[in-house]
Amino acid sequence: MKRLGAAILFVSVAAVVGLAQPPQFSQGVRAFIKVDAPVVALTHARVIDGTGAAANEDQTVIIRGGNIASMGPSARTAVPDGATTIDLTGKSVMPGLVMVHEHLYYPTGPGVYGQLGESFVRLYLAGGVTTMRTAGNVNGVMDLKLKQLVDAGQQPGPSIDATAPYLNGPNTFLQMRDMTGADDARRQVAYWADMGATSFKAYMQITRDELRAAIDEAHTRGLKVTGHLCSVTYAEAADLGIDDLEHGFMASTDFVPDKQPDVCPGQAAGQRTIAALDEHGEPFLALVTKLVDRHVALTSTLTVFETFTPGRPLPPGLDVLLPELKQQFEQAYQRTQQKTDSPYAALFPKGMAFERAFARAGGTLIAGTDPTGGGGVIPGFSNQRQLELLVEEGFTPLEAIKIGTLNGATYLGRAARVGSIAVGKQADLVVVDGDPSTNIGDVRKVETVFKQGVGFDPAKLIASVSGKVGLW
Ligand SMILES: [Zn+2]
Repeated sequence: MKRLGAAILFVSVAAVVGLAQPPQFSQGVRAFIKVDAPVVALTHARVIDGTGAAANEDQTVIIRGGNIASMGPSARTAVPDGATTIDLTGKSVMPGLVMVHEHLYYPTGPGVYGQLGESFVRLYLAGGVTTMRTAGNVNGVMDLKLKQLVDAGQQPGPSIDATAPYLNGPNTFLQMRDMTGADDARRQVAYWADMGATSFKAYMQITRDELRAAIDEAHTRGLKVTGHLCSVTYAEAADLGIDDLEHGFMASTDFVPDKQPDVCPGQAAGQRTIAALDEHGEPFLALVTKLVDRHVALTSTLTVFETFTPGRPLPPGLDVLLPELKQQFEQAYQRTQQKTDSPYAALFPKGMAFERAFARAGGTLIAGTDPTGGGGVIPGFSNQRQLELLVEEGFTPLEAIKIGTLNGATYLGRAARVGSIAVGKQADLVVVDGDPSTNIGDVRKVETVFKQGVGFDPAKLIASVSGKVGLW
């Protein structure tokens, strides 16, 4: 009996530790919540579970205490007494998006990146993003503080894997430090890890020695390093143990003929070689094999490259911008359309083909949006656009959804809790008015975003920042 009692106690403690309750929300956050009940039943829903499996029609999902308590065909799944029932006939439930190249800043003027965390966390959540990694920060502590405030229920937004300020060598960005060597890289990683950063991003002017030291310090602490590289090639970074590479193959300088070690030959020089590279040729396939063998993930950020490419549609969500910023982007967009000799005309489809080849070869493709570049990549809206672009790239809608959900969660080490819809997992769910498993464009029709079982209203989140994004 005594032994049994101890076993039961152990199980219940484990349950409490594993299944965190949603936080107490502040009044300000409450204004964006439309469903908050001890038990919620989503009935007659099409469930797209995020694993790539075919959608299941007419399902009932029971949410209790922030988690998925049970799930099955509506005809056989009992709705508990007192549950708040939401009939989702004709609608779909998919996992909250887990995207990994997000930022809390935006280009507002020459060399200036406005720190827009306040509005961006709302837009990300409204777009269906319930977990995100920021892929580099130029503000210091804001990513870390927002992560804490969201976790504490004091801000609406996705759960954040917060990156430290960029790890870079001498560079021209006003808001980016210049590291001075390997010891400095190690110190910078240790300092920001102690401050609460949970991931790191190497940038275009880092040296191999600095990158090696940074990776070693991060890995010692169980943290991961990604890179938007240039001075270090993808193959070199893979050998140094990097976990992830940003922007598909668009930042690879592996094929620049006169590449000097530790020197960035310029992004354009790398991209010229990528545009000319054969997707079926030995040099490219050898790099893919190395990345796959070394378990280096690749982050697709098609949304930012689309804004540089002529002949593409205006990106979604521009109306949330401050009028001056909206006009600024629209003028840049017009200039892009007139650039008939733009290298992106060839590079954009090539970049897609390379990412597809990497994934088909067994590589881990994850996704993000990168709201930087020349502007026009709007959080939330662009995460939906990124899924559409993955389908254009050649993935099925179910594969694209998996890349934007379970793949990201797996990379972040969070797949036991989020990233797919399964009994026992956290109820991070997006209700979509349509069927994105057959028409990916339906991901734009987000009705409710559940995070830990609490349903947020995307329309209210967007309305609260509309026309002001750029100020805060
Ligand atoms: Zn970025």
